[in-house]
Amino acid sequence: MTDTLDVDFLVLGGGMAGMTAASAAACAGLRVLVVEKNPQIGGSAVLSGGKLWTARSWELMEQETPGGDPALKRVAFDQHARAVDWLRRSGVAVDAATPHLHYGLGHNFDIHGYIAWCAAAVIDAGGHIVRGAQVDHLDVDAGAVVGAVVSDRDGDTRVRAPRTLLATGGFAGSPALLECFVAARGAKALARANPANRGDGLRLGIGAGAALSPFMKGFYGHVMQSPALKWGPREFRYYTHGIASVAGIILNKAGERFCDESLEDHQNAQRILEQPDAKGLLLFDQAIREQVAQTQWPDDNAPTDVFEVARSEGGHAASADSWAALFAQTADWGFDAAQALATVEDYNSRIDADDDRLTPPRIRARRALSRPPFFAVEGQAGVTATHGGLRIDPQGRVLDAFARPVPGLHAAGADAGNMHGEGYVGGLNFAAVFGLLAADHAIATARAA
Ligand SMILES: Cc1cc2nc3c(=O)[nH]c(=O)nc-3n(C[C@H](O)[C@H](O)[C@H](O)COP(=O)(O)OP(=O)(O)OC[C@H]3O[C@@H](n4cnc5c(N)ncnc54)[C@H](O)[C@@H]3O)c2cc1C
Repeated sequence: MTDTLDVDFLVLGGGMAGMTAASAAACAGLRVLVVEKNPQIGGSAVLSGGKLWTARSWELMEQETPGGDPALKRVAFDQHARAVDWLRRSGVAVDAATPHLHYGLGHNFDIHGYIAWCAAAVIDAGGHIVRGAQVDHLDVDAGAVVGAVVSDRDGDTRVRAPRTLLATGGFAGSPALLECFVAARGAKALARANPANRGDGLRLGIGAGAALSPFMKGFYGHVMQSPALKWGPREFRYYTHGIASVAGIILNKAGERFCDESLEDHQNAQRILEQPDAKGLLLFDQAIREQVAQTQWPDDNAPTDVFEVARSEGGHAASADSWAALFAQTADWGFDAAQALATVEDYNSRIDADDDRLTPPRIRARRALSRPPFFAVEGQAGVTATHGGLRIDPQGRVLDAFARPVPGLHAAGADAGNMHGEGYVGGLNFAAVFGLLAADHAIATARAA
């Protein structure tokens, strides 16, 4: 052991939750230490679209998050405005609110500028940010978390802190934990996230007496191109099939539909991960292709034609003037051609007849796929942020197996579970709201001392 450092607030993880908490505590005069595993701060937040959003109404919040903790949803919804105010306080560009998906509303903002402002706030208040550093375990004294040993290339430092925040971004980057908690074939998912988000916060929290949240299997992600020949942050958005997956239909390798594809793309990604070989066959016709090719992602500059992206980048993509000719091609990828043809014909005839007995059902975008040419693109799940995590209360305090707070320990962002359940109502908002709550506690602790 080389050094000892006393700080008011120890923050593990320099992404959205960690930097929000660190900046809020620093602006109140606290000495903060941020420990970041990567050589740079920012995490998934700086790879994101930078839209701070949540559901448009409380009714939609409840409807779109089946399996999520009602008390956490309430906090994330009620304190969205506080999080927006905090972004504005940073002085970065925050746009007026615009719709997001069919149920959300939120603000595009300058995420890079915001993270840089947070870092400056920490340093200006006499705090530190160490990059490329690790924490092996938390120090616990009489049941309370009192700091940690931080290791970097200069050696080990014992950090003493009355309050610690776990904000290491969940476990999207851990195939083993995805397989353990999310789906039997979870290890086949792509990490559409900062690869360093490997469940370290969960491991550290459990070591200090924390419990896991219920409903560990939820995640936000997208249906991605398959196979992904190139893979990295540039492809996270470029390879996303989003709109095509919701407008068309999806079959598994047995040639069967397995979900209401029209709900949302993140739910399609969750269902694909449960299918044989964790692959899905996205089907659409020329009418949908034109709609998709003309549709612009909210924060992208140019519309994306998912078929053209898959075809030109070596993904499995096929087109033909008849469904039978199309399925003759997709049989080479392992999809049952005869059953696929029967499924599409049955789907089209029931939609044409306005038959409500479709199984699985189809709530939105009820349109027969009838205008040739027809298109098939293979898809797989990309996991952006896991929804299960450490059990927390509505103040963001980490709880043990008996639902008692572990003294001195908070969790925020994707380390905290479980607010979204099977749905998704904005990861940046959840991270910012609970980051601010962790800062509130750190400030109160410091003032009481
Ligand atoms: C392509 C893409 C687009 C997205 N678009 C949006 C969007 O528009 N709106 C939205 O709401 N959400 C979006 N998201 C999701 C959003 O980015 C995440 O929900 C959010 O960043 C989660 O915040 P976090 O602080 O939990 O994790 P992160 O922001 O990932 O931060 C976690 C940090 O912890 C670090 N870390 C990991 N392990 C350790 C350790 N042991 N010690 C120290 N540090 C560690 C990581 O390196 C990282 O810097 C998007 C994500 C991606 C990838």
